[in-house]
Amino acid sequence: MDDESGHPKVKPRLLIVDDQALNIHALNELFRADHEIYMAMDGNKAVDMALTQFPDLILLDVMLPGIDGYEVCRRLKASPLTAGIPVIFVTAKGEEADEAKGLELGAVDYISKPFHPGIARARVKTHLTLKLQSDYLKSQASIDGLTGIANRRAFEQHLHAAWSHLCRDGGWLGLILVDIDYFKRFNDHYGHLAGDQCLRLVAAALDSGIRRPLDMVARYGGEEFVCVLPGTHLSGAATVAQQLSDAVENLKIPHVESLVADRVTISQGVACLQPKQGQDAHQLVGLADQALYQAKESGRARFRLSEVCNRKLQSPPVGH
Ligand code: GH3
Ligand code: MG
Ligand code: MG
Repeated sequence: MDDESGHPKVKPRLLIVDDQALNIHALNELFRADHEIYMAMDGNKAVDMALTQFPDLILLDVMLPGIDGYEVCRRLKASPLTAGIPVIFVTAKGEEADEAKGLELGAVDYISKPFHPGIARARVKTHLTLKLQSDYLKSQASIDGLTGIANRRAFEQHLHAAWSHLCRDGGWLGLILVDIDYFKRFNDHYGHLAGDQCLRLVAAALDSGIRRPLDMVARYGGEEFVCVLPGTHLSGAATVAQQLSDAVENLKIPHVESLVADRVTISQGVACLQPKQGQDAHQLVGLADQALYQAKESGRARFRLSEVCNRKLQSPPVGH
């Protein structure tokens, strides 16, 4: 089904957890017309489903085989991946103490069985609206207003997530700092609005220049961008840097005031590290920044690999 704007209508995703087939059936009948329904009949399955399907809301029974609904709720709220999913307890245990326990564990609401269909629908609707609004605000808070790509804040989050993941799993983290050449001269000659449009085009070109799902391009600030490449070694990051240069040069944005070309070009600093627990992820940014400085000093419209990373990679491991 399409909405008024012609976009396919995305149904909110609801996970129903109950060990009684009849109860699941009743809730499914109530919500299936305008929700995408997932079902689980025990606690462990419910946690697994939440972690793989990321539903927008969970209707959770308390009495379940294996781990009970309270424990399911506690586990979901303990993981940053699932903590934001609203949980509504649906249970015959209508005692006030049970209700309090569920709410203390982080549930947003409580529906007693046998449930009144109108009340159940209204409560689900309210909490889904709040959840979807909060998702929207979160996504807006991560997007750069001018270019529409990830902003500095999203970059910091992604960098730290990739860093801690790679600390556990080993592997390399590549990073590229990108800076538009002679952009002040561009603004002075073509005007600030043209400068803004140039930033949008360059951002889109950089974004299209990365390929892997975990790679990210963000606006670092002003006319600088940053590219995070989890699982990428220096040579792989150099290949990406070449793709990014090509993508920007292919835009063929005229820049008569540039001292290195007749079109807009970028300089880049490329670095990579093997993240280690207890080290600061920003040292990687520092290395890329030094390499960017070298790229500027040696003539612009080029990328430079971090000398520190290069030296480390070329020296044989100690003891061999
Ligand atoms: P270099 O080749 O050494 O990088 O020189 P540059 O002129 O690009 O560097 P500089 O740091 O001197 O100037 C950056 C310019 O970027 C200055 C600033 O006006 C412009 N700038 C930063 N943010 C924006 C923006 O959002 N819109 C526009 N139009 N210009 C911006
Ligand atoms: Mg700059
Ligand atoms: Mg610049």
